[in-house]
Amino acid sequence: MKTVTVLGATGSIGASTLDLVARNPDRFRLHAVTAGRDWERLAELARTHGARVAVIAEESHYERLAEALSGSGVEARAGAAALAQTAAEPVDLVVAAIVGAAGLAPTLAALEAGTTVALANKEALICAGELMTAAAARSGARILPIDSEHNAIFQVLEDVERIARIVLTASGGPFRTLSLNEMARVTPEQAVRHPNWSMGAKISVDSATLMNKGLELIEAHHLFGVAPDRLGVLVHPQSLVHGLVEYVDGSVLAQMGPADMRVPIAHALAWPERMPTPVDRLCLATAGRLDFEEPDRTRFPALALAEAALAAGGCRPCALSAANEVAVGAFLEGRIGFLDIAAVVEETLAALPPAPVSTLQEVAEVDAAARAAARSFVAHRARR
Ligand code: NAD
Ligand code: MG
Repeated sequence: MKTVTVLGATGSIGASTLDLVARNPDRFRLHAVTAGRDWERLAELARTHGARVAVIAEESHYERLAEALSGSGVEARAGAAALAQTAAEPVDLVVAAIVGAAGLAPTLAALEAGTTVALANKEALICAGELMTAAAARSGARILPIDSEHNAIFQVLEDVERIARIVLTASGGPFRTLSLNEMARVTPEQAVRHPNWSMGAKISVDSATLMNKGLELIEAHHLFGVAPDRLGVLVHPQSLVHGLVEYVDGSVLAQMGPADMRVPIAHALAWPERMPTPVDRLCLATAGRLDFEEPDRTRFPALALAEAALAAGGCRPCALSAANEVAVGAFLEGRIGFLDIAAVVEETLAALPPAPVSTLQEVAEVDAAARAAARSFVAHRARR
């Protein structure tokens, strides 16, 4: 029996995780569930899944959450400190499924406490990769990747010393074949309608710009300790091959599976064992063909921006990710166009001086400076 805490329980990854937990009552017991603002949904999930604790990050929602949970036996908590403290409470596994840099503090708290973290929240690792891997090394905590490409690599990775290259696949997103002119006019509704995966709004837009793949290169660098020049991307529209490891002898090992996040989540939940899932089985005869192509960095400049940030290191990945969060938020609110997202990120990076980051305080400062700069570039573009 594993005890599990789910950070970001009301999201897409949270829902898939709770689905698997509910199907396996003999394997898992829920300790805590958390959410950002949706106290109603959080209370409902805590009750149906029998969690002991429910934490709402937005402090002003405490009373409402506590009232919704009265008589249920679930303890209500609220605020950033309660979130980090709950993440550090002893369990066998913390599923880190908050979106954005907001997930950094609780995820880091879990790692510092020595708890195994099943990580979906890539932005936390991107803004503070060195701090997170160092914390894990100090406490002996493991990070198990949930992100499908990284979970794929994790499954086929023997020894980093023997690899030539790691390749992450990308579906290419909903605008894979669109021209720049066509992309200039796409709506948020079109951007979040991903062809293969059902995901939260932010990562859906990131998949459409290919920023997601760029963020994933940075994520892979931290997770597997591989130099940037040995990390590559291949566009694979069918999303059935999730990641490939090429070894020095020329062998290539790939992981395949249906495009359903419950597969990598189940792998992380059950690891080092495996458990059955209710997903549709992969049928290659029905799939028919598998296509691969080079990504187009002219139509998808966000990928090149992320690659440059990875190569530069220091504060660049954190600034890139923070600016991207602001720009994606503004696009989803209809304030800027789709192509403005990468433009705002580029302008933000150009405006900020490169600097090393070695403390959480420095990460927070870079994050805040990048958000402030990105907001001003968004405002400038929104006025046009
Ligand atoms: P989502 O938007 O569906 O859910 C996000 C969760 O985070 C919600 O529970 C929300 O309440 C919580 N949250 C948001 N802001 C918060 C804040 N300020 N403080 C505390 N909690 C907050 O997102 P998602 O699609 O489930 O993605 C979650 C993470 O997993 C992201 O980092 C994403 O990149 C990654 N990921 C998602 C998928 C997927 O299929 N959805 C696949 C790979 C990786
Ligand atoms: Mg992914």
